[in-house]
Amino acid sequence: MDCGIIPIREVLGGGYAGKKVGVRGWIYRTRSSGSKAFLVVRDSSGIIQVTASRDELPEREFDDAKKALIETSVVVSGKVFEDKRAPGGYEIHPDKFGVVSFADVFPITKDQSEEFLRDNRHLWIRSRYMTAIMKIRSTVTGAIHEFFRERGYCEFTPPILQPNQCEGGSTLFEVKYYGEKTYLSQTWQLYAEAAIFSLEKIYDVSPTFRAEKSKTSRHLSEFWMAEMEAAWMEIDECSEVAKDEIKFIIRKVLENNRDDLEVLGRETADLEHCLNASFPTITYTDALKLLKEKDGMDVPWGKDLRTIEEETIMNHFDTPVVVTHYPKEAMAFYKPVDPAAKDAPGQVAKCFDMLAPKGYGEIVGGSQRDTDVEELKKYLERDGEDPANYKFYFDTRRYGSVPHSGYGLGVERVIAWICGLENIKDAIPFPRTLARCSP
Ligand code: ATP
Ligand code: MG
Repeated sequence: MDCGIIPIREVLGGGYAGKKVGVRGWIYRTRSSGSKAFLVVRDSSGIIQVTASRDELPEREFDDAKKALIETSVVVSGKVFEDKRAPGGYEIHPDKFGVVSFADVFPITKDQSEEFLRDNRHLWIRSRYMTAIMKIRSTVTGAIHEFFRERGYCEFTPPILQPNQCEGGSTLFEVKYYGEKTYLSQTWQLYAEAAIFSLEKIYDVSPTFRAEKSKTSRHLSEFWMAEMEAAWMEIDECSEVAKDEIKFIIRKVLENNRDDLEVLGRETADLEHCLNASFPTITYTDALKLLKEKDGMDVPWGKDLRTIEEETIMNHFDTPVVVTHYPKEAMAFYKPVDPAAKDAPGQVAKCFDMLAPKGYGEIVGGSQRDTDVEELKKYLERDGEDPANYKFYFDTRRYGSVPHSGYGLGVERVIAWICGLENIKDAIPFPRTLARCSP
């Protein structure tokens, strides 16, 4: 090549008209007529039109340009011309057209079913749709690291193989562990609670596994959870951190991924609104009142909120909402009772969920952590667990216990909402669900 290769995005940025450039990538669209081949080439940064002419290329190269199918890998160089009709406003007229590897007929064409696209996810991740989502995903996880590090949190990595449940035995994935059995992590929480006694403020972004036995558009069997845990932190402060984190993530996506949101057809006015709005906090009891008064829905006090109820509540809001103080009896064993709660003191837990608007459901779940070993034992027994298996966890309460809180943010739930996806399966490159563990 007599000129350097540059990203397609750079060519489209302007300043190259009349100059020679080189680009490399894969054929995204192709059509030819007589002495011209009209190709669109994509690389990780964008797409550009390449108009190959018989009289500007060596014969063999022009023949290659004409016969190359979609996904053929190519290296092209030539002069850049401004052309309003071309995607991005520029096109290249190549004087060199090199095929790196010819492609077979690509199985993915327009209008294929979601299932077909998921069966072929290893190829579908080349689509502009999936590329845009994966770029946004990268911004989201990068933002999470940045958010916590800026605030003095230390990254802490939990084990993935764990001997105990923390979020309910029914969703555990069992793993053969030499002669014994163990489980894949449902959360880092029990280990995070041990680590705050040295590091105080910690976070992670880790793979999380839950055998979700019903089909929903918001549950994966393998997902990534961004969790935080902090010593000396009570529940109110904890939910404020979660609000700040969500705003931080949105800000970073709006700063870095406008083009990608556009590829997805995602309007951004509601996201921009979230940056400047304050997210309301309501209690579970208030949420039930709202459902009754505004929607005529009668939910008996004490029942956890179902998807339909969460969605109905969120019809009344245009930003995420924090719902606090769920009934203690419906909660996981580690969420402590709040004896001084505004509504139903002694019957509700120091906990919160953050719900996203537009039917995206729960994006964050958090709580203060019970420090009373007898209470912990009682509720483990309620759940059919043997407290003897949690000795290491009780130890964390025995040596200088402090109030502490934490939450988990579902990375794919947040991505699905920010990207406006219909199904959480598109928020992760290779989804694992009840019905799918391949490719
Ligand atoms: P849900 O009621 O939606 O099942 P949960 O109460 O089980 O959620 P938590 O245990 O609080 O969820 O987990 C923290 C966060 O992890 C949730 O707020 C959600 O964003 C995310 N999450 C939980 N389960 C899944 C899953 N199966 N797939 C994707 N994300 C999940
Ligand atoms: Mg769940």
